[in-house]
Amino acid sequence: MSRLINETHDPKLKSWVESANDPNTDFPIQNLPLGVFKSRSSNEPPRVGVAIGNQILNVKACSEAVHFDKLAAEAVRACAGSSLNSLMAPGTEHCSALRERLSRLLRADSKEYKSNKKTLEKCLVPMDSAQLLLPVEIGDYTDFYSSIHHATNVGSMFRPDNPLLPNYKYVPIGYHGRSSSIVVSGTSVRRPNGQTKDDDAQEPFFGPCRLLDYELEVGFFVGPGNSIGEPIKIKDAENHIFGLCLLNDWSARDIQKWEYQPLGPFLGKSFATTLSSWVVTMEALAPFRNGVFKRADNDPKPLPYLDIAEDQEHGGIDLTLEVFITSEKMRNQKMVPMRLSQGNFKDMYWTIAQMLTHHASNGCNLRPGDLMGSGTVSGATKDSRGCLLELASRGSEPIQLPSGEARRFLQDGDEVIMHAYCQRQGFRRIGFGECRGPVLPASNKTT
Ligand code: CA
Repeated sequence: MSRLINETHDPKLKSWVESANDPNTDFPIQNLPLGVFKSRSSNEPPRVGVAIGNQILNVKACSEAVHFDKLAAEAVRACAGSSLNSLMAPGTEHCSALRERLSRLLRADSKEYKSNKKTLEKCLVPMDSAQLLLPVEIGDYTDFYSSIHHATNVGSMFRPDNPLLPNYKYVPIGYHGRSSSIVVSGTSVRRPNGQTKDDDAQEPFFGPCRLLDYELEVGFFVGPGNSIGEPIKIKDAENHIFGLCLLNDWSARDIQKWEYQPLGPFLGKSFATTLSSWVVTMEALAPFRNGVFKRADNDPKPLPYLDIAEDQEHGGIDLTLEVFITSEKMRNQKMVPMRLSQGNFKDMYWTIAQMLTHHASNGCNLRPGDLMGSGTVSGATKDSRGCLLELASRGSEPIQLPSGEARRFLQDGDEVIMHAYCQRQGFRRIGFGECRGPVLPASNKTT
């Protein structure tokens, strides 16, 4: 259902919010992503908002200004709190009704706007005067490993003769992450301290991470959950997915390397994860379901519980992802951020439906607002590698910055900025906003 194209996707739609008609905006009227914001100038509690151009539509204020009925009215009531969780729980129909209602209200030719101009304009808050907050109360967070290119590149550094482990083409691999340290875009991230051990050293030592990295990922949120003991069929999986955001899975490679065997990632990952502020709904992404990873002829078919034709044909999302970096020196010299890589989410080996279905296949209950990360999005080419470990080939091929500096891994004062957008002939381009995180020095309060 969320894959169907409807009137809200019409590329000809324009909004009375002028900035939404700018061809370069991430937030035209065809997008309408949801988030949570707080005005910088008032003591009002955080509110659910919808991004439109360079403005935020305050959903609660809007519901007081004009009439909402039926499912849209229920959806608006679910937006009364200060997170999206209540809106995520009931399912895609509510969200879809809200989208249709807001799309009609925000159109340039809206009669309601013409008769309520002043009241409706008061429902807008300029994005640059608002503080964007984490949009969801995240109960559980799981991170997958769904790019075969990333898994092969990283695997070949540790096992040149046998980069992919035998389970990879059968199991959507993941680990349970930490939700307490998930932060919203713009939040500074402190370099972690931890145990590391140099290859030629006898003993490990404790101190600041020396191999700090980012991972470019797509996050997706669970909408309606499932009961414990009740798996989710793959044909129903997307009805349990609310929407997507950008995710930076900060990684301390030296801590990770020393600790990951035998139980997988732990403190090398749990110190911080950054999310973009806006959640792009599955419905907004409907026009961009036009690409999916094709398995090699000699690859095994997914096991039946992960395999339906519809998902194999339309389960991918044609979403371009980019990572930029600025160093302190670059900012001092007023240099623009440098693009490190560009990849595409359709190149993932596992679809979001397969990841979700696999997660619930043992009867594990997923709850509204749970977050899943896709795993680092890397493509087949070198310029599409989604982390520094891969881009700089484990430090052996440093990245040259325009300031004359070189980077093997991240330095204090660096800032990592991720962007994503969908673009397709015949449709309006939509974007995800940014996922930004500056790196602070490690804490010295360790002993
Ligand atoms: Ca990851």
